[in-house]
Amino acid sequence: MNARTTPSFHPDQFILADYAAGSLHGAVALPLAVHLEYCEQCRAETHQLQEVGAQLFEGLDPVPVSDGALEQVLRCIDSADPSEAPPVRCAAPADPSLPRVLQTLIPAGLDALEWKRIGSLRSSRLRFGDPAREVALQHISAGGKVLEHGHRGAEITVVINGSFSDQDGCYRPGDFLVRGPDDVHRPVAAQDGDCLCLAVLEAPIRLEGWMGRLANPFLKIHPR
Ligand SMILES: [Zn+2]
Repeated sequence: MNARTTPSFHPDQFILADYAAGSLHGAVALPLAVHLEYCEQCRAETHQLQEVGAQLFEGLDPVPVSDGALEQVLRCIDSADPSEAPPVRCAAPADPSLPRVLQTLIPAGLDALEWKRIGSLRSSRLRFGDPAREVALQHISAGGKVLEHGHRGAEITVVINGSFSDQDGCYRPGDFLVRGPDDVHRPVAAQDGDCLCLAVLEAPIRLEGWMGRLANPFLKIHPR
């Protein structure tokens, strides 16, 4: 991972505030955690928001609990069956080109994933446990063009390696993009290297053109 990259595109304050409060919905937290590994500015902002939250929390009046509450919690801990704990696995060598949060999610690395190809785009869905959103890595070959498409729901993308561009700009590692139903674009990877992104989709993309209109009814997202 290129730790020196300074992203140019950032999440808005509402997303950062939800993240700082621990209330960001499901898989949306993942691209944000990736962005924070690249972005000192948003890390500082998140830290400030967490401090504000902690101060607000301290100002709350304590809520009384029953007399035996502590003993009850301790009894629950004592009675937990250690055989139900998940087995400890030996850590596989992580891929240092990935952000740490993705190294944890993909311990065996990118080559161990199952990839599907559509033109110059390869896509691999990740198991994240969000029942409403698809989480996928997307890999575009150097100079590759993705089909022109719009969106039927929010699509959050964070660039991991390489870069791509569309009519609105050029996006480099750490850049955080949110696309909505009104956005139509055709991402093109830079000529000087492949581009790897993480994408979270709430709904299938919408392909443009007459062939796209034929294909659109068959496009679905696959939450895992
Ligand atoms: Zn940022």
